[in-house]
Amino acid sequence: MVVKNMMQKLTEQEKISKDILIQLFEETYNAGALCCRNAPGYPVLSSKGSLPAVLGYDTEESLLKDNVLFVDLVFDEDKDSVLKVMEKAVAENSSFSIEFRCHGRDGMPVPLCGAVVYLKNTGHILLTFIKTDETIWDRIFRLLPCGICRVAVDNVFTIMQANEIYYDIYGYTSADAAAAGFTNEKFIIHPDDFESVRHEVGHCLELMDSPTFEIEHRVIMRDQSTGWVLVKGYIDKAGGECFLNCVLLDISDRKKAEEELRVSEEQNRIAFLSTENHMDIYDVKTHVLEHPYDDGDDERPNRLENVPYSVIAAGQVEGDSIRDYMQLFDSISKGNPEGRCTIQMAARDGGAFGWYEIKYRLIFDKSGSPERAILSYKDVTSQREKSLAYEKWSRFFEQQKASSLGYYEYNLTKNLYAGSEESLLNTLPSHIQSFTEAVGYYVEHCVYEEDWKKYLQFYSRDRLLSAYYSGTKTDYIEYRRIRDGNVVFWAAGTVQLISDPYTEDVRAFILVQDIDDKMQRRIRMKNQIEVDSLTTLFNRGTVVKKITAGLADKETGCRSMLAMLDIDHFKDINDTYGHQFGDRVLGDIGKVLSSMAYSHDVYGRMGGDEFILFLTGIHSADTAEKRLLEIISSLNIEYDNPDTTVSVSIGAVYPCGSLTFETLYSAADAALYESKKGGRNRFVIRHRAF
Ligand code: GH3
Ligand code: MG
Repeated sequence: MVVKNMMQKLTEQEKISKDILIQLFEETYNAGALCCRNAPGYPVLSSKGSLPAVLGYDTEESLLKDNVLFVDLVFDEDKDSVLKVMEKAVAENSSFSIEFRCHGRDGMPVPLCGAVVYLKNTGHILLTFIKTDETIWDRIFRLLPCGICRVAVDNVFTIMQANEIYYDIYGYTSADAAAAGFTNEKFIIHPDDFESVRHEVGHCLELMDSPTFEIEHRVIMRDQSTGWVLVKGYIDKAGGECFLNCVLLDISDRKKAEEELRVSEEQNRIAFLSTENHMDIYDVKTHVLEHPYDDGDDERPNRLENVPYSVIAAGQVEGDSIRDYMQLFDSISKGNPEGRCTIQMAARDGGAFGWYEIKYRLIFDKSGSPERAILSYKDVTSQREKSLAYEKWSRFFEQQKASSLGYYEYNLTKNLYAGSEESLLNTLPSHIQSFTEAVGYYVEHCVYEEDWKKYLQFYSRDRLLSAYYSGTKTDYIEYRRIRDGNVVFWAAGTVQLISDPYTEDVRAFILVQDIDDKMQRRIRMKNQIEVDSLTTLFNRGTVVKKITAGLADKETGCRSMLAMLDIDHFKDINDTYGHQFGDRVLGDIGKVLSSMAYSHDVYGRMGGDEFILFLTGIHSADTAEKRLLEIISSLNIEYDNPDTTVSVSIGAVYPCGSLTFETLYSAADAALYESKKGGRNRFVIRHRAF
């Protein structure tokens, strides 16, 4: 304040005499005056007051020896402005206030302020001054909101000067920095970055044409946390020594934000690359479609312009899908926040066309207009094929429903009953929830006992699943069911095995149809081919085939007997009672024989009045004889009208063993001949020993 008041005083009293001024400054501590000649460099004529002391000299003589020029005392950077003021004072015959720095004896600037007064009488210039606490530069140095420092280029970057903000960045004050040992940059530069900082400065020293540098490095804060500073500076080679004049900014927050951004970028990148789906970013404004992270898999370039048009023009989208593809991008540009479509397009690896579900989500800019769309492509080719197969079979079964007894759906993988539509069949009780339970229930309640084994084998869950995985997609079974307690009818089960398009579970669609009419027709037709219509026994061809098959098993052979049977005097019957009656006798013999057949026995008519019987399950010769006797007596059929009795003769071989049909047949035939010869209405049996 003293300085300022005095300055005002000086400015107001420009006309005050030289002596009074000098006297005034002589009395003031740190103040003084210089008288210079108005000549180049302004040679100093005299000095009064404390100037020598202010600049660090002992005496006036030591300061003013050798014709000192005033300009040489002025700090280089202030010279221009000082000279201008002095010229102005002379030119305008006036006085001005001035602020400048002089070189101290130690080379450091000494801030002064004062006035330049042109002394008209003598033509000299009077400079009055007072040492100020700070110059305008000092104020800038102190108040500029950044750290400013001047450091020596030595091993530790010793701090020559630094402003308060410089220390504040690190959490210190200039007062306590020195006590903490903070007298050089090495103290705060992060140890891991110190070498790179030195290297950078060293590099800059070599490049003399560009002595400026810019470094970002980590620093250790007073609380030991790590921060970041941005240092911009230039190399000042003053007086043979090297200094760095630097400006520092605390960029810890920016670095933190950058790091967070980098981590989130990295997360995005990993997310992009980890997803099985391909991802693209579409710039809504430039129509550029970009795959931001190169996963190296694609043939397609990572950047496509003029999308969607270029993609379509390149034939990448299948004709039927073009409209949907265009609509998707239309929806993007309209700003719909999300959308999807399923289209057929070329695989990214340049391979075949596939089906892709494309989904997008929009990112908006600050003004709310769409900026980017993130697109994901999911290959749904196999899913779509499955889905089409699924739809096809669902439709097929839907159509079949009308003619079906029931329609069932199961999840075989999870062994779950998934629903049914039953029109005529028993409804499954509600407690049954699995496929295997359902099969068990139906066997017990709906399937004809003789077909249980076949039914359970067919509907084995394991069998169906392994059939599916080995390529069987449909299967079919014909079996007999029971209706109304005791009515047996033929039914068919059609199973369609389909993998669920979404879960991959194997699902079984089962359609049950009534095929009784069809089966009855088929049985009738089969009989027509195999059965003798008059006797309903197998015809010759069939019976020979079946007996040959029965004999193929040696075990069966040991317990079976082959018998030839011939009606006695059948010619006479025909002749006496007519051919028609003869036919009736043949039919009756067929019926009686059928009723006496054991389950594995095979009986047939060889032709005329001759029959062949393959009798099974006979464990002894006695049993064999007993059976033949039974047959003989049962075939002693008595008729009332016409009144007559029929008889038959039998020739047999027991046991059949492993003999061929032909051998057995001729042996039985020979026995029959014997039987006839022996009186008829009897049997002859050839016992064979093994
Ligand atoms: P035997 O006691 O020796 O057997 O005397 P048989 O009269 O029965 O003699 P044979 O077995 O040789 O005679 C078979 C007769 O069966 C001859 C034929 O007229 C008659 N015949 C053959 N096929 C048919 C047929 O389909 N219907 C009728 N009614 N008779 C048939
Ligand atoms: Mg006969």
